[in-house]
Amino acid sequence: MVKNIFLAFSLTLPLIGCVTTTSPVATTKSYIVDGKTYQATGKSERIKTIVLHYTVSDNERSINTLTTGKVSAHYLVLDNDDDKIYNLVPENERAWHAGDGGFAGRTILNDTSIGIEIVNVGIAPEYKDALKDGTLAYHPYDHYVAFDQLQIKKVAELVQDITARYDISPKNIIGHSDMAPSRKIDPGAKFPWEQLYKQYAIGAWYDGADKFAFMDIEAFAAATIPEIKQQFRDYGYQINSSDEWDKASRDVIYAFQLHFRPRNPTGEIDLETYAILKALNKKYADSDNFY
Ligand SMILES: [Zn+2]
Repeated sequence: MVKNIFLAFSLTLPLIGCVTTTSPVATTKSYIVDGKTYQATGKSERIKTIVLHYTVSDNERSINTLTTGKVSAHYLVLDNDDDKIYNLVPENERAWHAGDGGFAGRTILNDTSIGIEIVNVGIAPEYKDALKDGTLAYHPYDHYVAFDQLQIKKVAELVQDITARYDISPKNIIGHSDMAPSRKIDPGAKFPWEQLYKQYAIGAWYDGADKFAFMDIEAFAAATIPEIKQQFRDYGYQINSSDEWDKASRDVIYAFQLHFRPRNPTGEIDLETYAILKALNKKYADSDNFY
């Protein structure tokens, strides 16, 4: 009994010590947040961009890479024949999918974008080394592997949903290659941007009549390299200001062609590419809301 009392006393002693020597770490706030009385009108969504990718891998490896390492995406679309899309990172957190680059005046796109990874190997295995001997500068359309139509349907509906919730501008639904042209070629020439635009009203696409009107050989011949580069910049691409089509600049042309003229991506500026670029800038001028 005596022992028990002693034990009880020794256990309570430190607690008493705590109470009596309390240092003043405040547990009550001296303010309340009033979010009702005043409201600002100058505001917009933090999410501005959707970046689409392919994983260059199969389902199993894609899941492993995107859930265990230092790369991730908000959503993963496998090539299974089911109705699932996996949400790997909550939309209010940053996924690590974009890396260096930029688009439409924004850099560090992980801060302001939703990333969607689609399982697709990208370049077909037999063409993986096609650029190695230097005779080809860029992969042509045929080197890319087509997407499963069910994947495209799921991606399209997901993008529709995200676009509506964050009011994302059509131009800001882009491929990884659009924001990082010298590092990335995904989602590649077989990602059906035109189909997404026409069938699901997703993303940007030019009007055929505008393109036709800009197919003007003389105007194209008269356009200087800095002028054409400015057109790319106006649309949103990051491009250097050198007055030649150096490798980095050709990478931008290639990225643009992957998106808007996917059947013939060459990395070379030509009349049709120029006309499409002009048509896009006409249609989407002033559509950015940088604030
Ligand atoms: Zn990517």
